[in-house]
Amino acid sequence: MLRRAWQSSMIAAARSPRIKHFMQTSRATSFLADKYVAGKTAADGVARARRLMEEAGIRSSLFYMGEYVDRLDLVEENVAQKLAAVDALGATTLDIHVSVDPTQIGYQIDPSLVQPRAERIARAMAERADGRGGVTCLMFDMEDASVTGPTIAMHDALQDAGLPTALTLQAYLRRTEADMAAQAARGSRVRLVRGAFAEGREIAYTTTPDIKDSYRRLLDAMFSAEARAAGFYPIVATHDTALHDHAIAAAEAGGWPKGSYEFEMLLGVREDVARALAGRGEQVRLYVPFGENWWPHAVRRIGEYPGNALLLARSLLGG
Ligand SMILES: Cc1cc2nc3c(=O)[nH]c(=O)nc-3n(C[C@H](O)[C@H](O)[C@H](O)COP(=O)(O)OP(=O)(O)OC[C@H]3O[C@@H](n4cnc5c(N)ncnc54)[C@H](O)[C@@H]3O)c2cc1C
Repeated sequence: MLRRAWQSSMIAAARSPRIKHFMQTSRATSFLADKYVAGKTAADGVARARRLMEEAGIRSSLFYMGEYVDRLDLVEENVAQKLAAVDALGATTLDIHVSVDPTQIGYQIDPSLVQPRAERIARAMAERADGRGGVTCLMFDMEDASVTGPTIAMHDALQDAGLPTALTLQAYLRRTEADMAAQAARGSRVRLVRGAFAEGREIAYTTTPDIKDSYRRLLDAMFSAEARAAGFYPIVATHDTALHDHAIAAAEAGGWPKGSYEFEMLLGVREDVARALAGRGEQVRLYVPFGENWWPHAVRRIGEYPGNALLLARSLLGG
């Protein structure tokens, strides 16, 4: 209850242009950006990805921040930044996902133009994926429930066109059980997250125990014999160590070797846990955002955990 109220107010703060302008231009809040964000440019993102690989054998998902944009010039800037990241990665041997949100590339302006833009980015990735492992795939992030169906349809269309792509599904949505079964049968690459928006009871589980139960059932589906036979690739994206243990037990019971699935966590959140998993030989990835538009991403991270209220208070009181 407390978590839901806190999360809803942080989501409102993420979308307020006035709060965003204040936070992103105040020097006092810059430590929040440093905690959750790799830097301003694609080169900063790639440099962090390289360091994580060299220091801890941890892979990255690069994300240029700028969701829910409703101006064409911003959409074009977002696409250009994704392509810049793909270009920079082409020269490396890092195994990287590049994350895209449909509202970043124009969903709010004209949904029919989003798929061609996503396809352009995925094609650029396919051209540079020359077997050295620089870029792996375009990962569709999942936004609020109004975009779930269109995002899945876009993923499926790109996958059918033979492009390297992956999809995020949210454990709190009731529909995800059916969506996961369909993706398992397609042999997709799916990242399972809890879900970071405040959705209603009609379509979502709204208490933590119910969401965790759903997460566990979905893990069982992801590590099923049918999924394995179809070539499915599970990505377990949570900071909850009990769910990590559940996934590892399901993998062991189903005969999934380490590296045939992976864990993904967010830069700046429980990195000690990520490093410990990697140290045990598990494949681990961190979600590494870059760009100037950092406030909506940071405030959603603060909203996920009421304990982070102190961080926010510190930033408002001047660091
Ligand atoms: C790689 C990745 C990609 C994601 N992509 C999406 C997406 O596309 N769409 C979407 O809706 N959501 C996305 N999310 C966010 C996700 O939906 C959750 O909101 C978030 O991961 C918190 O839930 P949890 O499963 O980690 O578990 P929780 O139960 O929230 O956390 C488990 C424990 O981890 C710690 N913890 C968790 N979050 C924080 C935090 N922010 N700060 C400090 N400690 C914390 C706490 O100790 C908590 O007890 C993504 C998450 C990850 C890891």
